[in-house]
Formats: sequence, C-alpha cells, structure tokens
Amino acid sequence: MSNNDSSTAKRIPPYVSEILKLIESSGHKAYVAGGAVRDIVLGKTPHDYDVATSAKPDETISVFGKAGINYYDNAAKHGTVTAVTSGGDVEVTTFREDGSYSDMRRPDEVVFKTSIEEDVRRRDFTINAMYMDSEGKIYDPEGGQEDCKKHLIRAVGNPDERFREDALRILRAIRFSSRLGFEIEPETLRAMETHADELEKISGERIATELIGIVCGKYAPQAIRTGCNVLSVIVPEIGECKGFEQHSKYHDRDVLEHTLDVLGHIPYVEGEGRDSELAMAALFHDLGKPACFRFDENGVGHMKGHPRVSEEIALRVLNELKCPKQFITNVSLLVRLHDTYIYPDRIQVHKFMSMYHEEILNKLKVLQRADILAHSPLGQNRIRRLEELNVISEELKASGAVFSLKDLAIDGRDIISLGVKEGPVIGEILEEIFNRYIEGKCVNTKDSLTTEAKKLLLERPI
Ligand code: ATP
Ligand code: MG
Repeated sequence: MSNNDSSTAKRIPPYVSEILKLIESSGHKAYVAGGAVRDIVLGKTPHDYDVATSAKPDETISVFGKAGINYYDNAAKHGTVTAVTSGGDVEVTTFREDGSYSDMRRPDEVVFKTSIEEDVRRRDFTINAMYMDSEGKIYDPEGGQEDCKKHLIRAVGNPDERFREDALRILRAIRFSSRLGFEIEPETLRAMETHADELEKISGERIATELIGIVCGKYAPQAIRTGCNVLSVIVPEIGECKGFEQHSKYHDRDVLEHTLDVLGHIPYVEGEGRDSELAMAALFHDLGKPACFRFDENGVGHMKGHPRVSEEIALRVLNELKCPKQFITNVSLLVRLHDTYIYPDRIQVHKFMSMYHEEILNKLKVLQRADILAHSPLGQNRIRRLEELNVISEELKASGAVFSLKDLAIDGRDIISLGVKEGPVIGEILEEIFNRYIEGKCVNTKDSLTTEAKKLLLERPI
C-alpha cells in the first residue's frame, strides 16, 4: 500500500515537514493528507497543507506548547489544532471516523482513531484519500494514485453510503471533475444521481460555493454535461435544455450544448480560473429558452423574451442559494443584457456606457463574444460589430467624454441660479441636459451646458 518516492518528499515544504516530524518525535503518526497529496501526485503545487495524525488534540497541543509553536485551538468546534508558522498555517486533525449523519451534512459524533485505514473511511474520493509522511512516502490504501493516472473520480468504498452520509460530496465530485478534467467513475456517478434529491438538505451557501467552483473550473463544460441530472435538482431548467433543439439556422446544437460552449468560451486563466460572475451568467443566459420557444408559420424556432425569463431563473436560483447581493445583481444583469443589440454608433454607445457600470459593460462584451462564438458559423459576422463597439467606446473615453451626470460641468446649484426652485425637477433638468450632451447638442463646458439649460427652460417653462 505504500510507495516511496523521494522526489515527492521535496514537495512538502519545510514548515510542514517540521510539524510532521515534531508530532512523530512524540511517538505519534502524522501525515499530510487529502488535497495536498493529490496535488503533489498530480504535479501541482498545493495551496495549503492539512495534517492527519494519531495524536489526540490535547496531545497535539502539548507537543506544540513544548516546542513553542503558536496555534489556534479549534478542537472543540472542528476537531482541529492549527499550527501558526512563518511558512503558513497547518491544520492538524486527529484520525477519526465520523459517526452517523442524520442531517446529511454533519456527522453526529466524531470518534478518534489511530490508523490511516480507519481515517480513510471518512474521506470522499480515492484521489483525496492519500497520505504522505515527512520522508515523502505515500500511503494510498484506496488506490488514489491509480485513479489519478486514470483521471478518475471514484468514491471511497461504497458510493451509496458516501453520498447518503454527506450529499455535498455529490457536488464536490462534479467540482473536482471540472477542476481536473477527470471522468466520474460510472458506479460513483450512478450513486450521485440516486442520491441527488438529498441535496435539498444541504444549505444554500454550501451549494453555491460548489456551483461557483463547478462553473469556474477549466473543464466546466464536460463536468456539467456529466453532472447534468444532478445539477437539475438545483436548477431544473438545465435538464430541460438538454436535447432541446432550437430550429434556427443560427444554432447547430441543443440549448444545453450551446450553453456549455458559451461557458467554454469564457476566458479561463491558469491559476485563477474564470470570472465567477461571467461563468455563472453563461450558465444561466439561455435557460429561459425552452419556456419561450415558439414556431413561426415557416417552422422556424423563436425564443423571444428569453433573456428576461433566464434572468428570472437566475434571480430565483441565486437568491435561493443565498449568494451575495452584488453577485446576484451583476449575474442577473448580464443575463438580461446578453442578447441586447447595441447599435455601433457613437450616440447609442455613449448612452449605453452611461447606463451601466464600466465593469459590467466589459463583462457583457466578453459574454456576447462567447455567445457569438458558440453559434453556428452563420452568426459570426456579429463579432465584427463587437469590435466596432470596442473602437467607439475607446474613442469616446479617449475624447474625454463623461458617462455620468455627476461629471457634467454644471450641477444643481447652476440650475437653481437660473431661477428654478429646489426639488426633484432639478434632477430631471440635469438628466435632460445630460441626454442632450450625449446627443451632441452641447459640449461639456459650463457655458455650453448653461446655454442649453436656458434653452430647455424656455421650451418647457417650469
Ligand atoms: P481544495 O484544493 O479544493 O481545498 P481539498 O481536497 O483540499 O481540495 P478540502 O475541502 O480542503 O478539499 O478538504 C480536505 C480533505 O478533507 C479532502 O481532500 C477530503 O479528503 C476531506 N474532505 C473534505 N470535505 C469532505 C467531505 N464533504 N466528505 C468527505 N471528505 C471530505
Ligand atoms: Mg483544501
């Protein structure tokens, strides 16, 4: 079950191996466990290191105390003691077996154990159930290294039991598949689908974290395709899009395949992933299509109004999952605007740039580009229009144009000095002057805007 590879030992940084050796020297076993070993086996650099040990929390505390190592004692709440070192924090957890899971999420009781063979049973997948000692020797009782080679996500032991104990593991499997590009082993996938309904017992926040991880992964399209039945428990519309043909010359795929193609075209940056708002907007952007679908008299499919319906779906789901307010606002706005045609002329672009925050517009361009690339070749000339939009918006910015009435060279006091009484009407006048400025009827100088304001007051005396 073990395999000594001294080259991997180098991959455990000194601050972590020191902790391992310290606990070992007190007569206990200690290993780096879980995700860090998986990452090392896959040739990646772990972002953190968790230690599993036969030492009970009070024994770990006593070892740290004697060695003068600072620590947080989270033993009562989380069963962990976290060593605080100059290299980073190291979470140390006693080998354990989690008791029954009556709420499908948290073990009712934790029983401390003394060996890896017992600790491994509480872990989710074989690739996450490997251990490495301070010498770099790997302990792999479930065949995690083999599954890393085969690019497989496989539940530890009986998959039905694993998912019954903790339904969140169902989404973790899809997230790891999205991150690593691994297939899910058929029996594990079958059990995930069998137990998918139990996801209803998991808190919205936890589901949201996993869903964001899923859409942001490098291999998100294939992971979502595989996990479609499971994800449909959270977002039923995903399942409705599978096999839903669009009957349009602009689309050569069903709605789900088009959606996954759009998601695949949202830029992925190595080490950073995808922008989570864009990735989530890509997932939701067309989910309203099946509900809006109509044939016209020529047998051509139309899905008029689908951005609004997709937006409602995004709002419903993301609120249910208790996502942060700003995230929900931005994702739903991107979904609503994804199909908006911005006419490539200066006034239209200026208006649009004044209506929405620059960050949203930049994201919208990325989403629209991804959407066009995921259409049949017939729609590709729309890319040119997006490029024209870019040129115009750059020209506008370079020309010193302003995009908010707060940046006009006049303000409310100037309007009052023209004899207008204070009140909401001041804002309305400024709004109208701002529109006229965008339309090129005046320029953004105090003189020009004041002249325009006087004209406006003559046309519409207050
Ligand atoms: P990441 O790189 O995303 O942190 P990770 O594998 O380290 O991946 P964590 O959530 O940090 O994942 O958990 C650390 C380890 O704890 C896992 O590798 C796994 O062995 C175990 N683990 C975490 N959550 C669960 C769970 N819900 N069920 C079973 N084992 C789990
Ligand atoms: Mg981790």
